[in-house]
Amino acid sequence: MADPALTGHCGCEGVRFEIDEPLKAAGYCHCTRCQRRTGGGASATAVVAPGSLRIVAGEELLAAWEPEDGFAKIFCSSCGSALFGRAPDSDEISLVRLGVIDGDPHIRPQGRQFVAYAAPWEPIPDDGLPRFDETFPDR
Ligand SMILES: [Zn+2]
Ligand SMILES: [Zn+2]
Repeated sequence: MADPALTGHCGCEGVRFEIDEPLKAAGYCHCTRCQRRTGGGASATAVVAPGSLRIVAGEELLAAWEPEDGFAKIFCSSCGSALFGRAPDSDEISLVRLGVIDGDPHIRPQGRQFVAYAAPWEPIPDDGLPRFDETFPDR
Protein backbone atom coordinates (compact mmCIF):
# COMPACT_ATOMS: atom_id res chain seq x y z
CA MET A 1 0.00 0.00 0.00
CA ALA A 2 1.16 3.54 -0.66
CA ASP A 3 1.91 5.85 2.24
CA PRO A 4 -1.14 7.75 3.44
CA ALA A 5 -1.38 11.34 2.30
CA LEU A 6 -1.59 12.62 5.86
CA THR A 7 -1.23 11.34 9.44
CA GLY A 8 -2.21 12.87 12.75
CA HIS A 9 -2.71 12.23 16.43
CA CYS A 10 -4.09 13.73 19.62
CA GLY A 11 -1.99 15.27 22.38
CA CYS A 12 -1.55 12.06 24.41
CA GLU A 13 -0.97 10.05 21.21
CA GLY A 14 -3.69 7.60 22.22
CA VAL A 15 -5.67 8.44 19.08
CA ARG A 16 -3.94 8.10 15.71
CA PHE A 17 -5.43 8.52 12.27
CA GLU A 18 -4.54 8.55 8.60
CA ILE A 19 -6.11 10.38 5.68
CA ASP A 20 -5.57 8.87 2.25
CA GLU A 21 -6.81 11.69 0.03
CA PRO A 22 -6.00 15.40 -0.05
CA LEU A 23 -8.16 17.60 2.17
CA LYS A 24 -10.94 19.28 0.20
CA ALA A 25 -11.37 22.67 1.88
CA ALA A 26 -10.37 24.48 5.04
CA GLY A 27 -11.43 27.48 7.05
CA TYR A 28 -11.55 29.20 10.39
CA CYS A 29 -14.66 29.05 12.56
CA HIS A 30 -15.25 31.85 15.04
CA CYS A 31 -18.49 30.47 16.51
CA THR A 32 -18.94 30.43 20.26
CA ARG A 33 -19.05 26.62 20.32
CA CYS A 34 -15.60 26.48 18.77
CA GLN A 35 -14.42 29.08 21.26
CA ARG A 36 -15.76 26.93 24.11
CA ARG A 37 -14.46 23.59 22.93
CA THR A 38 -10.99 24.91 22.09
CA GLY A 39 -10.60 27.64 24.67
CA GLY A 40 -9.37 29.86 21.83
CA GLY A 41 -10.67 32.58 19.56
CA ALA A 42 -11.23 30.42 16.47
CA SER A 43 -10.79 26.88 15.19
CA ALA A 44 -9.09 25.83 11.95
CA THR A 45 -10.88 22.89 10.36
CA ALA A 46 -10.64 21.03 7.05
CA VAL A 47 -13.12 18.95 5.08
CA VAL A 48 -12.14 15.29 4.61
CA ALA A 49 -12.87 13.49 1.35
CA PRO A 50 -15.57 10.86 2.04
CA GLY A 51 -14.12 7.54 3.10
CA SER A 52 -10.52 8.78 3.23
CA LEU A 53 -10.05 9.01 7.02
CA ARG A 54 -9.17 5.96 9.12
CA ILE A 55 -8.74 5.78 12.89
CA VAL A 56 -5.70 3.51 13.31
CA ALA A 57 -5.44 3.63 17.13
CA GLY A 58 -7.54 4.71 20.07
CA GLU A 59 -11.03 4.56 18.60
CA GLU A 60 -12.27 3.66 22.11
CA LEU A 61 -10.93 6.99 23.39
CA LEU A 62 -13.12 9.07 21.07
CA ALA A 63 -15.93 11.01 22.71
CA ALA A 64 -18.29 13.56 21.21
CA TRP A 65 -20.16 16.69 22.13
CA GLU A 66 -23.32 16.44 20.06
CA PRO A 67 -25.33 19.68 20.04
CA GLU A 68 -28.93 19.20 18.90
CA ASP A 69 -28.56 21.54 15.93
CA GLY A 70 -24.98 21.22 14.77
CA PHE A 71 -22.01 19.05 13.95
CA ALA A 72 -20.79 16.59 16.58
CA LYS A 73 -17.46 17.70 18.01
CA ILE A 74 -15.27 14.64 18.49
CA PHE A 75 -12.38 14.75 20.95
CA CYS A 76 -9.95 12.48 22.79
CA SER A 77 -11.49 11.56 26.16
CA SER A 78 -8.01 11.05 27.61
CA CYS A 79 -6.28 14.34 26.75
CA GLY A 80 -9.14 16.53 25.49
CA SER A 81 -7.63 17.24 22.07
CA ALA A 82 -10.20 18.50 19.57
CA LEU A 83 -9.97 16.11 16.61
CA PHE A 84 -12.93 15.76 14.25
CA GLY A 85 -16.41 16.86 13.29
CA ARG A 86 -19.34 14.76 12.11
CA ALA A 87 -22.56 15.89 10.49
CA PRO A 88 -25.60 15.23 12.69
CA ASP A 89 -27.24 12.98 10.09
CA SER A 90 -24.11 10.91 9.43
CA ASP A 91 -21.99 8.29 11.17
CA GLU A 92 -18.87 9.22 9.18
CA ILE A 93 -16.32 11.81 10.25
CA SER A 94 -16.28 14.65 7.72
CA LEU A 95 -14.12 17.32 9.37
CA VAL A 96 -10.62 17.29 10.86
CA ARG A 97 -8.98 19.99 12.98
CA LEU A 98 -5.89 21.28 11.22
CA GLY A 99 -3.88 21.47 14.44
CA VAL A 100 -3.84 17.69 14.99
CA ILE A 101 -2.34 16.81 11.60
CA ASP A 102 1.36 15.94 11.53
CA GLY A 103 3.42 18.44 9.54
CA ASP A 104 1.97 20.36 6.61
CA PRO A 105 -1.67 19.50 5.84
CA HIS A 106 -1.12 20.80 2.29
CA ILE A 107 -4.11 23.07 2.49
CA ARG A 108 -4.60 26.57 3.88
CA PRO A 109 -7.71 28.13 5.43
CA GLN A 110 -9.76 29.77 2.67
CA GLY A 111 -12.22 31.81 4.72
CA ARG A 112 -13.67 32.68 8.09
CA GLN A 113 -17.19 31.82 9.25
CA PHE A 114 -19.36 33.03 12.14
CA VAL A 115 -17.29 36.21 12.40
CA ALA A 116 -20.37 37.95 13.86
CA TYR A 117 -19.61 35.98 17.04
CA ALA A 118 -15.85 36.50 17.05
CA ALA A 119 -14.13 36.80 20.42
CA PRO A 120 -13.93 40.42 21.61
CA TRP A 121 -10.40 39.93 22.89
CA GLU A 122 -8.81 38.87 19.59
CA PRO A 123 -9.05 41.06 16.45
CA ILE A 124 -9.61 39.05 13.27
CA PRO A 125 -6.35 39.13 11.30
CA ASP A 126 -6.27 41.31 8.21
CA ASP A 127 -5.35 38.34 6.01
CA GLY A 128 -7.61 39.01 3.05
CA LEU A 129 -9.68 35.85 3.59
CA PRO A 130 -13.42 36.18 2.91
CA ARG A 131 -15.47 36.63 6.06
CA PHE A 132 -18.99 35.38 6.66
CA ASP A 133 -21.22 36.52 9.53
CA GLU A 134 -22.85 33.09 9.62
CA THR A 135 -21.87 29.74 8.13
CA PHE A 136 -19.84 29.31 4.94
CA PRO A 137 -22.31 29.68 2.05
CA ASP A 138 -21.24 26.37 0.46
CA ARG A 139 -21.89 24.15 3.52
ZN1 LIG B 1 -5.43 11.94 23.53
ZN1 LIG C 1 -17.44 26.75 15.06
